[in-house]
Amino acid sequence: MTNAENTTPGFNTRAIHAGQEPERHTGAVVPPVHFSTTYAQDGIGGLRNGYEYGRGTNPTRDSLQEQLAALEQGTHGLTFGSGLAAEDAIIRAVLRPGDSIVLGNDAYGGTYRLISRIFGDWGVANRPVDMADLDAVRAAVAETGARLVWLETPSNPLMKITDIEAIAAIAHDAGALLVVDNTFASPYLQQPLTLGADIVIHSTTKYIGGHSDVVGGAVVVRDDALAEKIGFLQFAAGGVNGPMDAFLTTRGLKTLGVRMDRHSDNAERIAAWLLERPEVENVLYPGLEGHPGHELAKKQMTRFGGMVSVQFAGGAEAARTVAESTRLFTLAESLGGIESLMNYPSEMTHASVKGTELAVPENLLRLSVGIEEAEDLVADLEQAFAKLA
Ligand SMILES: *Cc1c(COP(=O)(O)O)cnc(C)c1O
Repeated sequence: MTNAENTTPGFNTRAIHAGQEPERHTGAVVPPVHFSTTYAQDGIGGLRNGYEYGRGTNPTRDSLQEQLAALEQGTHGLTFGSGLAAEDAIIRAVLRPGDSIVLGNDAYGGTYRLISRIFGDWGVANRPVDMADLDAVRAAVAETGARLVWLETPSNPLMKITDIEAIAAIAHDAGALLVVDNTFASPYLQQPLTLGADIVIHSTTKYIGGHSDVVGGAVVVRDDALAEKIGFLQFAAGGVNGPMDAFLTTRGLKTLGVRMDRHSDNAERIAAWLLERPEVENVLYPGLEGHPGHELAKKQMTRFGGMVSVQFAGGAEAARTVAESTRLFTLAESLGGIESLMNYPSEMTHASVKGTELAVPENLLRLSVGIEEAEDLVADLEQAFAKLA
């Protein structure tokens, strides 16, 4: 990849070329998808380039892993069958019964469910905390003796921004590792390993795949020992992604940069439009100057991304009416695809945390702003808002 001495190619160049050398035998510019589950040995134990069995290694998965590591500025990428399978491998690699996790009190609902309901039963304690309150984080880490600190920025769906560098320092002072869920920003907008995080996790189902057609997860690290531990779980517990999924994810990743710029353009436009509407009580978008995390987001992100949350003055009823009245924005869970989606978190993505500390306001809608024409998206919202009159 690097031709000149010590020059790292730019993001889009790495996205397109890292792990994507043309195939040796034919010169195929797009490396073929390797479906084979097993590999011929040249005599017993005579593996060709280490390939033995598909759960352990697969060339299509390898090229995705290399591409991801290059984009997050890590040294090792490891991919899984889903974001939650990736999270499960991280936690099992690092923690043992009796250990604790400190996590953001607005973590993804599925992350909280995994940590509280699965790992809770295995004797791993958890302490949700407001990640914006650095003293509270420091105190929680000290009180619990946490070995893992887990944050998400921007957070889902409240779009809170957490200071990655500051939390990394707190974690490291206490001998803990910092995990950053970088799903909302994607590596194009934010690279947590360069800000002191130890482990980055992605649901590649979202912006990285980018086309709402493949579920997957990834872990990226810089530390060899950590990579070995997580890699052992990938192989020995077997939560891997299949070759076709790896291929689709690689293909999506090649256009991440252009997509994220366009998602950001459209989201900025929609956030500005929402801000002017009398039906709206609050717009949660880190690109807005009035957002409490705006300065921090400018510091640690290159742009502000495609996710916008909005709260309605007319309460839950107004939010539900708009959610059920759009035509281009599809009412659906998930996010990060090229098409615009609308989600009512309190009954959809975040139904599992209703009534807990992680519950989401009932007057809130979360928009995953796609890359359609911005005017068409605004017109769609306009006609849906007209139903509120
Ligand atoms: C979707 C999501 C996950 C879980 O990923 P899956 O691919 O659905 O398993 C984790 N974190 C965040 C922020 C997500 O949006």
